[in-house]
Amino acid sequence: MTGTPESVVNGIAASPGIAMGNAIVLAERDFHVPLRRLRPEELDDEIARLEQAIEDSKTQLHTTRDEMARDMGESYARIFDAHIMILEDKRSLEDVLARIRDRYSAEFAFNAVFLRHEKELWEKGDVYIKDRAGDIRDVRRRVLSNLSGLRGRSEELSNLEDDVIVISNDLSPADTARMRRERILAFGTDIGGRTSHTAIMARSLEIPAVVGLKNGTSRVAEGDYVIVDGNRGKVVVNPLPETREKYGLEIERYASFTTGLLRFKDLPAVTVDGHSVMLSANIESHEEVGSVIEHGARGIGLYRTEFIYIGREGLPGEEEQYEIYRSVASRVKPDPVIIRTMDLGGDKFVSPLESPKEINPYLGWRGIRFCLARKDIFKTQLRAILRASTDGDVKIMYPMISGLDELLEANAVLAEVREELKHEGHRINENCEIGIMVETPAAVVIARELARHVDFFSIGSNDLIQYTLAADRGNEKVAYLYEPLHPAVLRLIMQTIQVAKESGIWVGLCGEMSSDVVCAFLLMGMGIDELSASPYVVPEIKEMVRTSYMSEAKEIAEKALTVFDPAEVRRMVLDCIGKEFPDMLL
Ligand code: PEP
Ligand code: MG
Repeated sequence: MTGTPESVVNGIAASPGIAMGNAIVLAERDFHVPLRRLRPEELDDEIARLEQAIEDSKTQLHTTRDEMARDMGESYARIFDAHIMILEDKRSLEDVLARIRDRYSAEFAFNAVFLRHEKELWEKGDVYIKDRAGDIRDVRRRVLSNLSGLRGRSEELSNLEDDVIVISNDLSPADTARMRRERILAFGTDIGGRTSHTAIMARSLEIPAVVGLKNGTSRVAEGDYVIVDGNRGKVVVNPLPETREKYGLEIERYASFTTGLLRFKDLPAVTVDGHSVMLSANIESHEEVGSVIEHGARGIGLYRTEFIYIGREGLPGEEEQYEIYRSVASRVKPDPVIIRTMDLGGDKFVSPLESPKEINPYLGWRGIRFCLARKDIFKTQLRAILRASTDGDVKIMYPMISGLDELLEANAVLAEVREELKHEGHRINENCEIGIMVETPAAVVIARELARHVDFFSIGSNDLIQYTLAADRGNEKVAYLYEPLHPAVLRLIMQTIQVAKESGIWVGLCGEMSSDVVCAFLLMGMGIDELSASPYVVPEIKEMVRTSYMSEAKEIAEKALTVFDPAEVRRMVLDCIGKEFPDMLL
């Protein structure tokens, strides 16, 4: 406690749960490396200093890599392999040495060479390559911190010794993967919205989080005692003893509520009047399959495969991907897994630090656009998925479809890959279902034509909301506009469901609306076939389904389409289901 009075910083509830502890604050920053020239007699010592810093960096990376592999699995650990390889690149190190011999300090020489590589990669504009630039940045900062004793954000997150609450301007998905999860009690970020990928990662890691704090990093000081209330979206700084006591009780209540829900995890998601809904879960990494099963989800409604591509040296090969998909499919079998082809771009894996060259990344080169431009990468992924299609109920889904041509072209690539595989003697499931994310308003409008070429739709409400309401999903300044209950959003969803039904295909929703009890109730009332939520909210959604009447949900959903006040829609739903849920969740 610093003796400062209690204060509250309000943000956006991003991942449920409450945690209390001491804060570490990671403000946005880069190292300032002053220009220092050396005297000739200093050269040998300077080179030795650089070599030592590189050795220290490698040792740290190997240790963190091994810990990460043990605690979180190989796909997270690979990020560090990529970093080690960067440090072993002889050409770059020769460049650095040449500069030191030109009498520049080790810090200045190292920073200049690696910063130049970073910028060159960044300017190539390819999302995948930009991610490599991020790796070089992390390595650069690590070596600089070993040279100068400064700590960079990456090391702070991966070398945590105590349990802490992280308050940061932002955490990229790569930062989130690197941090020592067991040491992080909760986090709060200045930027981001409920469906920014930082928030999605927090939910999948089951870490309470608040995003969109705007000035959290300036309101919280390093070492302050803070409470992160991920249910209500606020951070209490230096709480009074009575506030700590109140929250202590709430943590206990919340824990008993969530464990209570797990008792019903194996029961079916059927309403009191007998309507059943397929309740599945979203994953970002194959290591989350255990959590899907533990929380009683019926398979995986969205596997975001982008993670396989980030933070590594080189692209993942067909064999590696095949092994991953095969293991996921066989673990959830007979339940399905919907493997979404990589959806790079937008806010994914591109930290705002390296502000993207695309002025409008969400309207830019992402999702299927990237896949069709890089058919080599796309085909490798499709081959791996199709080969795994005999190991369980595997379905394929394309992201970001905005036109019929894109879908036809993607299907043509798939057909080509299918023929190739058969020709090579591979066994594949000929009936593997193909679907698309309906996440652009254009896809909703032409849904009837799209439906002729697919087996299912999965509504991507996270993007559909941002494109419909023209409100960036990751920008806290327009978070007040980003409203799932806006009638325009609800009507587009209703329209998609109706077209799917008339076209004889099934329709699910895998955006964050499925993880919100109120939205999930309305979606059920609109006749959605499947809801795919974050694994650990699945029990809560199941509880909602099991205690509701479909007849009531239908009636309320119909009304909601004509009500312009989202607060009123929420109230209508809560009047119907609210009594079953503790108010801290609603
Ligand atoms: C969505 O847009 O709703 C979705 C599920 O995809 P992502 O969040 O990965 O963009
Ligand atoms: Mg999306």
